Amino acid sequence: MKKSQTNRRNFLKNTTLGIMGAGMISASKFSAYPKQDEDEHQEMPVVKEYRTLGRTGFKVSDISSGSPRSEAVLRALLQSGVNFIDTGEAYDNGNNEVMIGKVLKDFDRNGIFINSKLYSEEKKFNGTEDVLNRVRKALERLQTDYIDCVQIHEVTKTDDLKEENFHAAMEQLKAEGRVRFTGVSCHGSAHFADPEETIDKVLLAAVNDGRFDVFLMTYNFMNAPLADPVLEACEKKGIGTAIMKSNPVMIYEILDGYVKRMEERGDTIPDYYKTFHDKYLRQNEYAKDFFSNYHYKSSEELIEAAQLFVLSNPKAHTTCIDFRNFTDIENLLKLSGRKLESSQAILLDHYKEKFGYLNCRIGCNICAGACPYFMPVSTLMRYQYYFHIKGDQKYAMELYQKLGHARPDVCQTCPGYCEDACPFGVAVKGLLAMVKEDLELKA
Ligand code: SF4
Ligand code: SF4
Repeated sequence: MKKSQTNRRNFLKNTTLGIMGAGMISASKFSAYPKQDEDEHQEMPVVKEYRTLGRTGFKVSDISSGSPRSEAVLRALLQSGVNFIDTGEAYDNGNNEVMIGKVLKDFDRNGIFINSKLYSEEKKFNGTEDVLNRVRKALERLQTDYIDCVQIHEVTKTDDLKEENFHAAMEQLKAEGRVRFTGVSCHGSAHFADPEETIDKVLLAAVNDGRFDVFLMTYNFMNAPLADPVLEACEKKGIGTAIMKSNPVMIYEILDGYVKRMEERGDTIPDYYKTFHDKYLRQNEYAKDFFSNYHYKSSEELIEAAQLFVLSNPKAHTTCIDFRNFTDIENLLKLSGRKLESSQAILLDHYKEKFGYLNCRIGCNICAGACPYFMPVSTLMRYQYYFHIKGDQKYAMELYQKLGHARPDVCQTCPGYCEDACPFGVAVKGLLAMVKEDLELKA
C-alpha cells in the first residue's frame, strides 16, 4: 500500500471513529494531542515544533488551523498536535464556531488556543453591550467557558484600533474570565481603499496602541518587505503573531486557461490582455529552464518552499493554513519543524523575479491613490486569493457581488495608472481581468 493511502486510512480511522471518551484526552500541558497507540502514528504527519505566542505565553504549534472546513479535518489536525484554531463569528454565519465547539469538547480545552474575531459593521461596534452579547453568543456556539483571544476582524484603518466599545467590553470579559487576550486581524484598507492606510501602517499603530496581544497578519516571501518591520516590532513588544496568506503562489499554472475560455466564448481579447499573457508565456519559458536545472517538477514544491519561508522565521509564531481536506494535511503538516533550504530560497528568489508581477502584495494599497475610479485593487486581489488558494469560490463570489459598482469593468479602457504607481510592478490590469473572469456571475 502506498504511504499516502496508509496515512489516509489512519486519518479516517482517527476521525470517523472520533475520540473514545475522556480517557483518551491528552494530559499534555500544551498539546491537544490525544494518547494513542504509537504504531497508529507512525505515518501520520505530526506537529514537530511549538513556539511561544508572544506575551500570551501559550506554546502554539508552528502550523495551525485557519477556519476549519469540516469536523473530520479539524479532528485530524488536533490529533496531529495542531493547537491553534482561527475562526470568527462571520465565518459561515457563526456555524464555523458551532462546528469547532462540537469537536472541542472531545479534546483537552486547556491545550487549545481559540482565536475568534468580531466583524464590526462599518468598523463601529454598536455599543459595549453589543460586543458583550456577541462574545457571549460566540461562547455558546463554541461550547466553552472562555475564548483565548478575541480580535477585531479586518481592521482597515488606524482609527478602528481605538474602538472604545470593543476595548471596554474586553476589559469586562477578561475580568469575568471569558476572554484572555485581544488582537486584530488586518488586510489593510478595503473599499474604498485609502492609500494612507497600508497594512504595515495599521499594524504598527496596533503595536503602539499596546492593548493588542495577538495579530493575525499576512506574511509570505512576496510581501516580506511590508511585513518584516511589523514582525520585528511585535517581537519587541511581545505580541503573538499568527500568519495568514503564507502561500502567495497562485497564478503560475492557472493563467493559461483564461485566453482559451475567452476564445471559446467568442470574446474579443483586448490588446492589453494579450500583452499581459504574452509576457507570462515568455517568463514561463525562462522559468521552465530554471526549474528543470534545479530539478523542480511542480508548483507543489514551490508551495512547500513558500510555506517553509514563513516557518523559518521565528518571529512568525504560528502559520494558519486553510486545510481543505486530508491531502492538504498530508502535504502541509509534514513541514512542521522544518526550515527553508538554500536551494529552495534560490527557487523563491527566482520565482519572485520572474513572476512577482503576478502577485499583488495584498493590503499594501499604495496604488489606491492613483486610481481615478477608487478601485479597491487590493481587496479584489484578496477575493481572487480566496477563490484560488483558499478554494472558497462561493465565498469569493459573494464578496465580489457585495462590492457593487467597485468592480473592474472600467479597467479595460483605463491606461492603468495603478500599474505606474505599484512599486512591485504588479500587472494590475491583466490580473483584474482575471478577477472579473473568475468572480463575476456569467449570465
Ligand atoms: S486599471 Fe485604471 S481603473 Fe483599473 S484599477 Fe488601475 S487605475 Fe483604476
Ligand atoms: S497592485 Fe501593487 S500597489 Fe496595488 S495593492 Fe497590489 S502590490 Fe500594492
